[in-house]
Amino acid sequence: MFKTVMVLGHFRGIRLEVHISWLVIFALILVTLSTTLMHHYPEWRLQTAVLTALFTALAFFASILAHELGHSLVAIRRGIPVKAITLFIFGGMAQLGKDSDNPEDEFHIAIAGPLVSFGLAAIFLALSFLFSPFLEPASVAFGWLGVINLVVAVFNMIPGFPLDGGRVFRAAIWRFTGDARKGIRAAVMGGRVVAYSLFAVGLWNGLFLGNLLGGLWIILIAWFLLTMADVHGKQFDLRQQLVGIQARDLADFELYPIDPTTSIRDWVDHYLLPRSERAALVGNQDSIHGLITLSDIRRIPPADWPDTPVSRVMTGLDRLRTVRPDTGVEEVLTVMTETGFNQLPVMDTDRVIGWIDRNRLLRALEVQLATRPRGS
Ligand SMILES: [Zn+2]
Repeated sequence: MFKTVMVLGHFRGIRLEVHISWLVIFALILVTLSTTLMHHYPEWRLQTAVLTALFTALAFFASILAHELGHSLVAIRRGIPVKAITLFIFGGMAQLGKDSDNPEDEFHIAIAGPLVSFGLAAIFLALSFLFSPFLEPASVAFGWLGVINLVVAVFNMIPGFPLDGGRVFRAAIWRFTGDARKGIRAAVMGGRVVAYSLFAVGLWNGLFLGNLLGGLWIILIAWFLLTMADVHGKQFDLRQQLVGIQARDLADFELYPIDPTTSIRDWVDHYLLPRSERAALVGNQDSIHGLITLSDIRRIPPADWPDTPVSRVMTGLDRLRTVRPDTGVEEVLTVMTETGFNQLPVMDTDRVIGWIDRNRLLRALEVQLATRPRGS
């Protein structure tokens, strides 16, 4: 299958990946920088210009990665797991495992990225100054990197979601009012204002200044910011509603395990079809050995079903991801998505005490959300 994301490696448990759309930016920087350099420094040889552009593009790439690592390492230090850093057409994104619990965490995580970019800008500008007397291409490259990191830092400090400044703004309002929701509303609103202003700037550029490509680019960024601001807002509302719902509220504690020696044929005829279920635990009430699902038996030709015990095709407990009774619903859903399993056993210490099926989970969630009192 065609992959749109390339994994570069792992750092402190964070998956570092590049989305295919990043290549567009990379190519764009490479081409525009090479041509600009050749135009400004006609005395340079072609390969000097191209190599300088290539070095600059790669260092820019590393700068964005460093910015995201800034966010991520502070998040990890504050107990918030980071799954991945993805570089894509509009920059980078660190995927945090959960929302901040307090405005202080939110502030420190948000500010870390721009601080890294400001720091890099200072270092690159100093290097540009140092190299200028004897190595012009290096000085030019460092100068460009210094300016672009400064732009990244300043642009990110605009107070609207999903920009870092939006998160700082959110933290400030949260801290000031003590209300996480007011913070998010303000930051989402800020994000909309930023996005609509950029739309206007993009239109102005395209229609009146004749800068069609630049204008279009700004409009694309505005559209992305607007979408993300709304996603952030909705995600937050949903998370707020899910707070406090745990695996134990959604699990089925009637295990009905089937005996490991049961043939697939018997399971299908006597359990699966009559109960219209898609999966079953295998074992007995005292010990569960694994889980069998519809997709497990698809691998076996129906002619062999009468002679194949379920224990032979099931997924053993040791290979299943499990959750604890107090695991939050958000993590339950994440585990299901990550593993591709629609059923998760619920373990208390070393014993399976229940299991969660995706369909049942969604129904249970609906009931929970409809019946629990709205927190204010
Ligand atoms: Zn950032």
